[in-house]
Amino acid sequence: MDSPFAVPGNDRRFVAAARDLAPQFAARADAHDHEATLPVDNLTALHAAGLDMAAMPEERGGSGMSYQALGEILRIVGKACPATACIWTMHLGAAQALVSFGPPRYADALRAGERFANALSEPSGGNRFLMPLQHAEPADGGYVLDGAKRFVSGCEIADHFLVNALVDDVPAFFGVDRDDSVEMVPIWDSMGLRGTRSQLLNFRGTLLRAENRAHMVDPLAPNIIGLGLPWLSIGIAEAALDALTDHARTRIVPGTGAPVGAMQWVQFDAADSHVKLLAARTLAERAMWLADRKDPGCLPAAMEAKLYANQVAKEIAEFGLRVGGGSGFLRTSPIQRHFRDAQAGALMAFSVEVCRDMIGKGLMEGTGA
Ligand SMILES: Cc1cc2nc3c(=O)[nH]c(=O)nc-3n(C[C@H](O)[C@H](O)[C@H](O)COP(=O)(O)OP(=O)(O)OC[C@H]3O[C@@H](n4cnc5c(N)ncnc54)[C@H](O)[C@@H]3O)c2cc1C
Repeated sequence: MDSPFAVPGNDRRFVAAARDLAPQFAARADAHDHEATLPVDNLTALHAAGLDMAAMPEERGGSGMSYQALGEILRIVGKACPATACIWTMHLGAAQALVSFGPPRYADALRAGERFANALSEPSGGNRFLMPLQHAEPADGGYVLDGAKRFVSGCEIADHFLVNALVDDVPAFFGVDRDDSVEMVPIWDSMGLRGTRSQLLNFRGTLLRAENRAHMVDPLAPNIIGLGLPWLSIGIAEAALDALTDHARTRIVPGTGAPVGAMQWVQFDAADSHVKLLAARTLAERAMWLADRKDPGCLPAAMEAKLYANQVAKEIAEFGLRVGGGSGFLRTSPIQRHFRDAQAGALMAFSVEVCRDMIGKGLMEGTGA
């Protein structure tokens, strides 16, 4: 019997397309990590498979793919190459805002293969990325921004940035085409998700054009980034569990003649990892199910799913390091990359601490859950 969270029949072709691409993404993931290179071929392949427009609303020429299918695709891509999944989530999230709430030209740009990036986080704003501190001043044709945004995944290949700033003391979102006023500062020599090349951007007198404003009625309505991020951690956790299982089945414990996987502590932790991963996935599927029904509870549900998925990914990746021993500590082992990549989800907004703070406060004050 199908799960109530199964991907709708019409969207299974999109999931199949992602499944076909995954082996080639996985084959290049170590190289992109080691050399900190952008997985441009992977992103181009996702576009060529029709998956960029699939996620856009039908009234703007997209396929209106379900969130349930999007989650499944992000899981598959995130397991194969998490840097690709991260950049693609940000690309789709920025495109969704501009295609849905900006001028029609953004749908044409996305269809043509142009690239989008999210430039929302401010150096002094951290997790408060939806509440910018930087003001844009009125100017001919719109507003001018002098400021900076940090950790903009995939910015070096982006044609359009989704940027927010205070306009008349209220957060406002704009599409900004790449031009000479946008300077890239190469800060991204990171511990994990190295292929995302999430650099700092300086905006020097950049014009936020009035006609490129995204008139979002409700920035807290279902959106690809809030709903998609749990899946990035689920993909990484699955990759980590597979890698440690391979090692545990083949590595013989010196002096015993038996594989690492025959030890009871490994079997106990493997069982816990498996069940926690199932639970994380079910929470994330529930959030997608609510989003597909436009239920306002979908973003709180996604926050619960993100909190759990981020923590489970870190736990399983750490278990992998214990199972791998010295072999897993070597750069030649996938175990160490999964461990480094698993840290990122918990840092990305809303961080694990912020999620715990918001969920816990709601519980104690009787306003949440
Ligand atoms: C791999 C990666 C890719 C990213 N890609 C993008 C992107 O494409 N576009 C973009 O705009 N941003 C991006 N970001 C930024 C990201 O989403 C966060 O906004 C940013 O990492 C948070 O800021 P900070 O790291 O400076 O942490 P801070 O907010 O300074 O937090 C520091 C510490 O304080 C804790 N903390 C902060 N506030 C609270 C609170 N209220 N309660 C309890 N604890 C709190 C945090 O959990 C953390 O432990 C990316 C980040 C990463 C790591």
